[in-house]
Amino acid sequence: VFITFEGIEGSGKSTQAKRLYEYLTNIGIKAYLTREPGGTSIGKKIREILLSHWEENFPSIAELLLYQADRNIHVNNIIKPLLQQDYIVISDRFYDSTTAYQHYARGIDYSIVDYLNKLATEGIKPHITFLLDLPVQEAFKRLNREKDRLESEGLNFHQKVREGFLKIADMEKDRVIVLDGLKSPDEIFNQILNILKERKIL
Ligand code: C5P
Repeated sequence: VFITFEGIEGSGKSTQAKRLYEYLTNIGIKAYLTREPGGTSIGKKIREILLSHWEENFPSIAELLLYQADRNIHVNNIIKPLLQQDYIVISDRFYDSTTAYQHYARGIDYSIVDYLNKLATEGIKPHITFLLDLPVQEAFKRLNREKDRLESEGLNFHQKVREGFLKIADMEKDRVIVLDGLKSPDEIFNQILNILKERKIL
C-alpha cells in the first residue's frame, strides 16, 4: 500500500507521516517512511540543489525536471521494490506537490506537468493521499526554519499552492482526503487512522 501526505510547508504533513510510520512499526506492520524531494542518496543531492539555489535565477522548467528526476529514481529504487515486498510505503510529498507547485503556482502548462508526472512515476499511484489544509498565514506562523526562502516567494505563491492542492483534491475525491490542518495533531492522527480502517487499508 502506498500512502502519501501533501500540503504546504508548515501544514503538519511531515509530523503526521512520521506518526503513521511509528504507529505501524509499533504494531508490527512493515512500513517505510520516505520523502520527496530527497528519498534516495542521489535524490538528497537533487534536493540540495533545489532548496539551496533559490536566490539565483532558477528557470521553472529546470526545476520541474529536477523534481521529476528525483521522483523517477525514488520510484525505481525505493517505492516499487518495497511495494513488491508488501511494505506500507509512506511518502512525505509525491506528484501532487509537483502539480500544485509547478503547475498551479509556477504556471507551467498542466499537460506538461501531468505528462512528466506520468513519465516519472511509471504507473505508481498512491492508494490514498492525505492533504493537510490550512491558511498560509497560519502555516507560516509555525515555521521558524528557512523563513527567508519561503517568504521570498511571497504569500501569494503559497496561496496558489494551497488552492492548487484543493483543486487536485476536488478532481480526485476518492484518492485525496482533505484534513483540517488547524485541528490538533492528535485529532488529525485519529482521523487518519479511522479513514485507513474504514478503507480496510489497516
Ligand atoms: O516540505 P518539504 O521539506 O518537503 O519542502 C520542500 C520544499 O520544496 C518546500 O519549500 C516546497 O515549497 C518546495 N517544493 C516545490 N515544488 C515541489 C515540491 C516541493 O517547490 N514540487
